[in-house]
Amino acid sequence: MSKPSPEVYEQGKGMDAHNQAMREIRSRKEASYDPHEPTRVWLDEDNTPDGVKTSLTIILNTGGCRWARAGGCTMCGYVAESVDGGSVSHDALMDQIDVCLAHEADNADEQADLIKIYTSGSFLDEREVGAESRRAIADTFADRDRIVVESLPDFVDREKIGDFTQHGLDTDVAIGLETATDRVRHDCVNKYFDFADFEDACAEAAAADAEADGDVEAGIKAYLLMKPPFLTESEAAEDMISSVERCADVEGCHTVSMNPCNVQRYTMVDDLYFEDGYRPPWLWSVAHVLEETADADAIVVSDPVGHGSDRGPHNCTECDDRVQKAIKDFDLRQDPSVFEQVSCECKLTWETVIERERSFNQPLTR
Ligand code: SF4
Ligand SMILES: [Zn+2]
Repeated sequence: MSKPSPEVYEQGKGMDAHNQAMREIRSRKEASYDPHEPTRVWLDEDNTPDGVKTSLTIILNTGGCRWARAGGCTMCGYVAESVDGGSVSHDALMDQIDVCLAHEADNADEQADLIKIYTSGSFLDEREVGAESRRAIADTFADRDRIVVESLPDFVDREKIGDFTQHGLDTDVAIGLETATDRVRHDCVNKYFDFADFEDACAEAAAADAEADGDVEAGIKAYLLMKPPFLTESEAAEDMISSVERCADVEGCHTVSMNPCNVQRYTMVDDLYFEDGYRPPWLWSVAHVLEETADADAIVVSDPVGHGSDRGPHNCTECDDRVQKAIKDFDLRQDPSVFEQVSCECKLTWETVIERERSFNQPLTR
């Protein structure tokens, strides 16, 4: 089993101290996966620029995120040493796709319109998924309406997107931007790229969109992270409001998915949480950001994972399910009035936290 260590491409990026700490934390866990099985696959429904669609979400096992091996993001519990040697063959990747198609056939009456492929890394990084596999996967899903693939911005270019749009597939690239504020992305998340790199990736998607036939679309879906470590509740909310607005203003970016941080094992966030130095965001903060950005020129959604638990975004436990439901309603309808219908006594506590919490006294509540 290899220990996390940076490859040449990843070397010298991010913050040395963060990378060193994260490499040490990640090395506490050892895991290995079968390269012929996807990491996860499930059926769901999603709001897209063409309305709500049934979706098949696939997490491919591609040998893992190279940035995680360098140390990587402070909140990401991705296990760095997933496949020894760090790459999965074309045949094994196609076996994983077959497993996903079988799962769909067994559990759904009809084929999903939307296919989402995540890799816990970058689908468009050819060290993870080679051009041959990328094109074969595009062929496999050519009869669907829309596909989403995940990538860091460095690997996004119009030709790779063209492999999908040429089949008539509307294509979105999901980018884990985390925040539009470079300082927060670098210092709190330890992600190495800049907002300018995200803008360049959006420009590539816009070019692919212009080159695609007729009404075939290509665009970017930005993923934002609410409340990385070291920010107070109010700083985190303000960072999200400005990030949603800045992303929505970039041509080529049509959707923003703003997701609250949860405490994953083997991360810096977990170490801080254990020492009483981190609390995941309040669901009231999520609702607040969605309300404040409801008129942004993009679809804005949020999918709080682990809501209501100590390690996930939560309020007082009494109202968590109700606020979560309002957030999910907002995702589908984009109507901020859904939040007027939920209330709880704990909202006053949240307001106090927003007003009083400072970096030296956080977290002010559990
Ligand atoms: S968040 Fe993404 S880029 Fe960062 S370490 Fe995890 S998988 Fe890698
Ligand atoms: Zn409450």
